[in-house]
Amino acid sequence: MADTIFGKITRGEIPVDFVYEDDHCVAINDINPQAPVHILVIPRKPISRLVDATTEDQVLLGHLLMAVGNITRQLGVDEGFRVVINNGEGGGQTVFHLHLHILAGRTMAEGELSQGIQ
Ligand code: AMP
Repeated sequence: MADTIFGKITRGEIPVDFVYEDDHCVAINDINPQAPVHILVIPRKPISRLVDATTEDQVLLGHLLMAVGNITRQLGVDEGFRVVINNGEGGGQTVFHLHLHILAGRTMAEGELSQGIQ
């Protein structure tokens, strides 16, 4: 896959404050937040889209969700947050390096699932 800004960020080539990091992923604040808390969880391994993950990535995908738990507990928003993955242009994906959005700090209304994330 082509390199992206998230590849550069995960490799430390662009200086960005990590909200969280471990051996397999980093988390950063979204540059264009859609909620008071808007974090991106980005695997160090570049996978273009969720659908491009293979069985080899199963453990990594689970790890990313576990990281969401750690990050939201760390930020004190674990009682109410939303996780979003945009997949493909039709799904609103703009950066083609898999990432999870964590949104928190405001009420996540029912029926709002497709709103608020470009
Ligand atoms: P998506 O539309 O799901 O691909 O999400 C890409 C997200 O990355 C958007 O919410 C952007 O605001 C965010 N973004 C793009 N470039 C940066 C950057 N350099 N630092 C932080 N967030 C970024």
